[in-house]
Amino acid sequence: SKWVYTFGDGAAEGRAGDKNLLGGKGANLAEMCSLGLPVPPGFTITTEMCNWYYANGRRYPDEFEAQLDAALDHIGKVTGRRFGDPKKLLLVSVRSGARASMPGMMDTVLNLGLNDETVEALASDSGDARFAYDSYRRFIQMYSNVVLGLDHEVFEEILEDAKASLGHDLDTDLSAAEWQDVIALYKSRVEEELEKPFPQDPREQLWGAIGAVFSSWMNQRAITYRRLHDIPESWGTAVNVQAMVFGNMGDSSATGVAFTRNPSTGENTLYGEFLVNAQGEDVVAGIRTPQNITEAARIAAGSDRPSMEKLMPDAFRHFVEISQRLENHYRDMQDLEFTIERGKLWMLQTRSGKRTAKAALKIAVEMAGEGLITKHEAVCRIDPASLDQLLHPTIDPKAARDVIGVGLPASPGAATGEIVFNSDEAEEMKSVGRKVILVRVETSPEDIHGMHAAQGILTTRGGMTSHAAVVARGMGKPCVSGVGSLRVDHKSGTLTALGQTFRKGDIITIDGGSGQVLKGAVPMLQPELSGDFAAIMEWADAARRMKVRTNAETPADARMARSFGAEGIGLCRTEHMFFDGDRITSVREMILADTERDRRTALAKLLPMQRSDFLELFEIMAGLPVTIRLLDPPLHEFLPKTDEEIDEVAKGMGVSPDKLRQRTESLHEFNPMLGHRGCRLAVTYPEIAEMQARAIFEAAVEAGRKAGKLVVPEIMVPLVGLKKELDYVKARIDSVAKSVMEETGVAIEYLTGTMIELPRAAIRANYIAETAEFFSFGTNDLTQTTFGISRDDAASFLEVYRQKGIIEQDPFVSLDIEGVGELVRLGAEKGRATRPGIKLGICGEHGGDPASIGFCEEVGLDYVSCSPFRVPIARLAAAQSAI
Ligand code: PEP
Ligand code: MG
Repeated sequence: SKWVYTFGDGAAEGRAGDKNLLGGKGANLAEMCSLGLPVPPGFTITTEMCNWYYANGRRYPDEFEAQLDAALDHIGKVTGRRFGDPKKLLLVSVRSGARASMPGMMDTVLNLGLNDETVEALASDSGDARFAYDSYRRFIQMYSNVVLGLDHEVFEEILEDAKASLGHDLDTDLSAAEWQDVIALYKSRVEEELEKPFPQDPREQLWGAIGAVFSSWMNQRAITYRRLHDIPESWGTAVNVQAMVFGNMGDSSATGVAFTRNPSTGENTLYGEFLVNAQGEDVVAGIRTPQNITEAARIAAGSDRPSMEKLMPDAFRHFVEISQRLENHYRDMQDLEFTIERGKLWMLQTRSGKRTAKAALKIAVEMAGEGLITKHEAVCRIDPASLDQLLHPTIDPKAARDVIGVGLPASPGAATGEIVFNSDEAEEMKSVGRKVILVRVETSPEDIHGMHAAQGILTTRGGMTSHAAVVARGMGKPCVSGVGSLRVDHKSGTLTALGQTFRKGDIITIDGGSGQVLKGAVPMLQPELSGDFAAIMEWADAARRMKVRTNAETPADARMARSFGAEGIGLCRTEHMFFDGDRITSVREMILADTERDRRTALAKLLPMQRSDFLELFEIMAGLPVTIRLLDPPLHEFLPKTDEEIDEVAKGMGVSPDKLRQRTESLHEFNPMLGHRGCRLAVTYPEIAEMQARAIFEAAVEAGRKAGKLVVPEIMVPLVGLKKELDYVKARIDSVAKSVMEETGVAIEYLTGTMIELPRAAIRANYIAETAEFFSFGTNDLTQTTFGISRDDAASFLEVYRQKGIIEQDPFVSLDIEGVGELVRLGAEKGRATRPGIKLGICGEHGGDPASIGFCEEVGLDYVSCSPFRVPIARLAAAQSAI
């Protein structure tokens, strides 16, 4: 097999399309080389090697070494150097690169190949001994940490002591000779800790670094990141080995990152940051606050530190030209990494840039306008789930703002919460329902869980491309970074701002749109869904086949869903209407009634309430289809629980509390989810279904009369497993319809259908479709009953299943296509076989999950139905699956 792919000098063995094999970084380095861009030569070890490595007890195949040697020779040829040869010094970087970008999740080693001998060569080659020894000590530090597993602090301590005894404040104050002393201390410390010397052999160093990158695929940070981003373990990471270029060779050298458009707003301007005389990771790490690339950005930021445009005009012009070329080539906004070594520009990475949802919309709409992409492509560029970010609240512009600090608007949206200073605390507080803002000097990959738990993130150091900023944008969390005027004191657990002191638990608000940090809670506004959002939605609507309905029963939800573009109600869960106000008392009377007569008396009280509920929904939906489901859940859910509640119901019914208590106990079920619920209620107490049917029909007649046109309700029977269950309930519905028609003299049109939410219903769908006029797949119950996993108890063990790789996704969140999906497919096919053109929809939670929506398109459902906030997501996902 071929395990190694080389690139450099205007040619490459791989290309951009090889992401699966070469990882994103490797594939794009190859592509940039083929485009003739300045890329340090190197090679990529494939992701297949990563899988082989893990499948074979962390070893390598025999033929690998020869391929590695050949690839090192390739770099040597292009650079005129030789790895390990002090006379023709060649140093390399070793970096991970998975198929999907995982910012900061895995390890990198720079300056590899340095040892006691080659460091002298670097000193004389560069003519800068200070630089050479600084590079060597950085290498020892990085390598010892990443490959040998020693803590950074070990070295920080030595360095701090050295600086103190030499009377230096900054690292840059150390001379070459002083660095040499530090290096000696570093090395003896490594030997002390590991009982063997720091490896001097460059080849040994290289093997160590390759192994460390592969191993980093399974470190805790990477595992957590994969879990949060649904990245399968089986993808593996590639390893990229490249000739070193140095951004820290003095003041004509620099390193930076940039986006071809603004990743926060989407504005079409080059956007980036750089640091003079610094090495790659310094920018991303957020340790020094970087400078702007363009003059325009510098002026806008009000910075007095010179831009790259001003400081290095030639390299700047070259960089602008390359960035435009790359954006046109990839036809997408690019995220670029570069280094300038003594005035010469080198490209280290290009990839599609992460962006906020707002920026994604703007970029897609503008690129379609520029003719760079089609409207369909624009629609496909938006991650449906990310639309959620746009539904975030922002601070009411009219609200009073007590600003305690201003930083960078690193990720949009506003958030209010209690201050916490560390990630474990953030997680703990979240778990007891508290809302927190994670406040840190800067974040690192160790903070992922805390960032996830927080409403928003605030850092006092770091730029727009710092860890906190990048990760928060990816998570869709508001973030303000680099608020230099705030001081976090971990020892005393305080945040100081403008002379005020805040402690853990104090409330602050951050505004990720302006970068402001505010004291207390501040009024928020709901988002505006116009402009670019509306444009993309319009294009999506034109492209999709499936309709999108909503699951809603309250007027407020129904109205909101319509404003989000819902095309009807796919599921009105009538039981939710039973809890309101004093209705619950009538419901309880109905349930606890001993005789049919008593039950009918209670139902008669409920009828007008239900009728007005339905009328309101029909009016809000103004002629769009409305599917109303008959009562579903086990009756005991409505029962009075406290003594007070029992007394109240007993009084209303004129029975003794004791009798009521007995009746309550008799309704107890061991397994209510599989008990007396769904159509089983309608079969045993048909008068409940009759009351609901009457309320629906009477409301339909009235709504029709008011609107001057017919309302065609869809009545849905839940939890059907047997055709005869449906036959029985439908006969009752039909007879009520007949009565209402006679009473009102109005001809009523309606459909009677069923949920398909039991495996038996899917298997017998051809028979059920003889009676059912539509199906709605209730994939919540269908998942529960197919897996035999209780939907209410699954959380306690499914997460462990996920961690152990037994399942990749929670099947209650994203449809289990192989199993549950197979039943949906079968049900759809069998339903159509009996009743061609039978209306088919889905109303389980999966109806709002983009991956599941793709499957619904594939099996040809007519519509998906989801909660109101998911409606825009579903519209977009439905369009993408149709394109
Ligand atoms: C379902 O089971 O998928 C469904 C939509 O019904 P509910 O969640 O109300 O049981
Ligand atoms: Mg159900």
